[in-house]
Amino acid sequence: MASYFRPSVERMTGYTPGEQPKPGTNIIKLNTNENPYPPSPAAISVLRNLDSEWLRRYPDPYANEFRKAISEVLEVPVEWIIVSNGSDELLNVVVRACAELGRKVVYPMPTYVLYRTLTDMQPADRVEIPYSKDYRLPIEELVAENGAVTFIASPNSPSGHTVPIDKIRQLAARLSGVLVVDEAYVDFAEETALPLVKEFENVIIIRTLSKGYSLAGLRLGFGIANPKLLSGLFKVKDSYNIDAIACLVGAAAMRDQAHKNECAEKVKASRVKLAADLKQLGCRLWDSQANFFLTQPPKGNAEQIYLALKERGILVRYFKQAGLEDKLRITVGTDEQNQILIEALIHLV
Ligand SMILES: *Cc1c(COP(=O)(O)O)cnc(C)c1O
Repeated sequence: MASYFRPSVERMTGYTPGEQPKPGTNIIKLNTNENPYPPSPAAISVLRNLDSEWLRRYPDPYANEFRKAISEVLEVPVEWIIVSNGSDELLNVVVRACAELGRKVVYPMPTYVLYRTLTDMQPADRVEIPYSKDYRLPIEELVAENGAVTFIASPNSPSGHTVPIDKIRQLAARLSGVLVVDEAYVDFAEETALPLVKEFENVIIIRTLSKGYSLAGLRLGFGIANPKLLSGLFKVKDSYNIDAIACLVGAAAMRDQAHKNECAEKVKASRVKLAADLKQLGCRLWDSQANFFLTQPPKGNAEQIYLALKERGILVRYFKQAGLEDKLRITVGTDEQNQILIEALIHLV
């Protein structure tokens, strides 16, 4: 046998996650868009008081406690909610449920690189359509590809821009396949496409507790869509994809909207200040409704700056990718962290 692996796996490049230094390492971590503030105290308290009986038994396959919390907060019926082990798992489930050879996965670029990885794992066709320089949604081109799955991240990473809901609506109306709206950063944004799930059977909104709720380590995401669309996804997901701890801790975090909103407001205030400071240094900046910025340093020496910051214990994200070689993606940290970053950048840009 020439290879242990399927040809699509043999050919693909694995996803490269941002560096994850050990907790406690003295580092300013602005590379993977985590929330700089701690999770909800109510959620921590649930974790501390967990009965070990929850560990002995298999968890609820539908994570209904967490679904109920989402249902209350977002005012959607429980049957319209699917829960996943991080939103990454749900993105994967959609690809596995819907795509195969002749059933394309389509998305505008640059965007979340995982869409490519998840598609390339399957024997499925992938079509990447470049965004224009001003990040207008290329609706005609996306419709023309007629994807079995079309991904839109809004706010998008690494650009931070939000796709207006009427553009997403126009796209949804003209697609016959599934339209995934990845709202990983919605907690920092002014707009959501959530109302579209009631208007279109083919739209699924995907969210995560990793960013807005400061729970990236817990691995919890969810999707909202018409039960008809969810029915196929339920067949494909692992039966016990949500562990018992995540289900209970996540439910408490979801119900503590006050904490989440308070942290998001702090991040948004720091975002304004960081933008002003980066512009002051001559960096080009794209408007962001997320908890990060895409920025182009004045001399375009992004890789060099990335390495020099790393040496000083500051991690930001550098993508060696067409169109991004001269840019950095920087997570909005606390004001103190951002200040240290800016002071380091003064000597580097
Ligand atoms: C961070 C991120 C996710 C993944 O979040 P998890 O729930 O931690 O798997 C999904 N989509 C985008 C665009 C992201 O940036």
